[in-house]
Amino acid sequence: MSSRIADVPVPPRCNEMIRAGALVAINTSGGKDSQAMTILLARIVPRDQIVAVHAPLGEVEWPGTIEHIAATLPAGVPLIFAPVASGKTLLERVEERGLWPSNSARWCTSDFKSGPIQRELRRYLKAHPRFGGRLVNAMGMRAEESPARARKAPWRRNDRMSVAGREVFDWLPVFDLSTEDVFRVIRHAGQSPHWAYAAGMSRLSCSFCILASRADLRRAAQLRPDLYRTYAALERRIGHTLSPTHRPLSEVTGVSPVGGSGHQDLTGPIGA
Ligand code: SF4
Repeated sequence: MSSRIADVPVPPRCNEMIRAGALVAINTSGGKDSQAMTILLARIVPRDQIVAVHAPLGEVEWPGTIEHIAATLPAGVPLIFAPVASGKTLLERVEERGLWPSNSARWCTSDFKSGPIQRELRRYLKAHPRFGGRLVNAMGMRAEESPARARKAPWRRNDRMSVAGREVFDWLPVFDLSTEDVFRVIRHAGQSPHWAYAAGMSRLSCSFCILASRADLRRAAQLRPDLYRTYAALERRIGHTLSPTHRPLSEVTGVSPVGGSGHQDLTGPIGA
């Protein structure tokens, strides 16, 4: 393991915030990047200053995600959930809008993840005055993931949340890690990533993501045939495709949503 993996680069202001007793919120999807970030932050932040927060996405997220997060959290770190306030599911919202989210209109992330998470963190800070309204909001994005992510600042003040007596910074602690580094951190901690990786997925979160590669969509179709059928039927009903290529899922994946041969029911831990 290279030394930069063991030592997360901590910006000076972040160091000050942690020393001053700020809350460090670990945004976790249950994916490999969140898991590695959790492992690394637990080494440098006092446990009683950490909270893990997850935005549950129900049927569209990989089965076992919440259990995986709970099983890999360091002892003593609370896990809080940030469900969408309306109670509507992602697929219900797609049906209502008649459109899938897209890279330029990623309301799935803002409405179902960042918005609810910020709401819960505001509540958590209010309920725990010992943090003095100070919050470091840690997210597992990495530069290597995409050119857009590479342009992000790994440390920046969150002006929108820094109101009403709060001081909030967004931090990307694993920004410079490679995919290989991330898996190595998990392995060296004696943990395993979520089962979907061993089953052939390269990313976690929504099983069928608008940003997923063809290979991931195809593998997800094989692993979750029932959900795949639901997505394919929704595409037909609204006349809009999940894929930005405007090709229906069956064409993108080469997997028929009708069922029958070629479908494996592999939802659940593999080889566990
Ligand atoms: S995983 Fe993909 S589809 Fe799901 S919320 Fe994130 S960007 Fe949207």
